[in-house]
Amino acid sequence: MEICVNAPSMFPSVFMPRPLDSHKGTFGTLAIIGGSQGMSGAIVLASTAAVYTGCGKVWAGFHQKTLPMPIIAQHPEIMLACAHELLIREDISAWVTGCGLGLDEDAVIVLEKVLSKSMNAPLLLDADALTLLSQRPQLSTLAQQHSHLILTPHPTEAARLLGISTADIQADRHSAVKAIAQKYQATVVLKGHHSLVYAFDNDTLYTNHSGNPGLATAGSGDVLSGVIGALCAQGIDNWQATCAGVWLHGAAADYLASQIGGEIGLLSSELPHAVRYIRNRA
Ligand code: AMP
Ligand code: MG
Repeated sequence: MEICVNAPSMFPSVFMPRPLDSHKGTFGTLAIIGGSQGMSGAIVLASTAAVYTGCGKVWAGFHQKTLPMPIIAQHPEIMLACAHELLIREDISAWVTGCGLGLDEDAVIVLEKVLSKSMNAPLLLDADALTLLSQRPQLSTLAQQHSHLILTPHPTEAARLLGISTADIQADRHSAVKAIAQKYQATVVLKGHHSLVYAFDNDTLYTNHSGNPGLATAGSGDVLSGVIGALCAQGIDNWQATCAGVWLHGAAADYLASQIGGEIGLLSSELPHAVRYIRNRA
């Protein structure tokens, strides 16, 4: 079955007002792990997006020796840690990793630990985590054993996961997203114009119609990871969180394009506050 309706009508629970008796614990704790030396921006964007998407508490776990305090100073609500400190916490509701993680042996160790630690919680893998899955059979096997996995490849990352070319992916995007979902027993977003979402355990293909080429800019994928991770941490199931997150991210870009007069020069760091506006307004 193929669906392409707007997410607010399809997933009303994602867009409902908050219960009057709610508290920050109601909205979950998200751990985002990435940001190796020189790659701090990706995790800052993802964690900023997560707080603007209404997550109760957000940890940014940096996989580098010194924490980049100044970069994150504009959002003091984001909690900072070293990746290894987060990996021993027991209060994490959902996990995101890959953004600026790097591809070296340290990154392999961190990803292996995140995969093992998060087995009973939603885990979103993006960017370098996807590349590592395609390079390291032991990580790929661990990921296949994970029962709450979300993968968000762009076409080239999808090509690596399936061992085919990017042109092959783009020639038949429907088959590609389904093949990755089956291979990893996961919920998968194949990103790009009209992103596709497919989950191995339900025969529904969601085609997203929000968004515009303004999103073709560095960091927009990191924002998407933070949005979906935040919805998962809030207790929304992987399928709804992924489809609604993809829609929200695109709708935020459409709103920004209307504000700045077009799609050119849209900044990824402008997306989070627009995501907040769209979620509240929907
Ligand atoms: P990434 O390549 O990981 O930075 O992710 C880019 C994000 O922007 C994904 O959510 C894509 O779906 C979105 N995106 C990129 N190009 C376009 C486009 N031409 N139209 C709509 N969305 C796009
Ligand atoms: Mg990316």
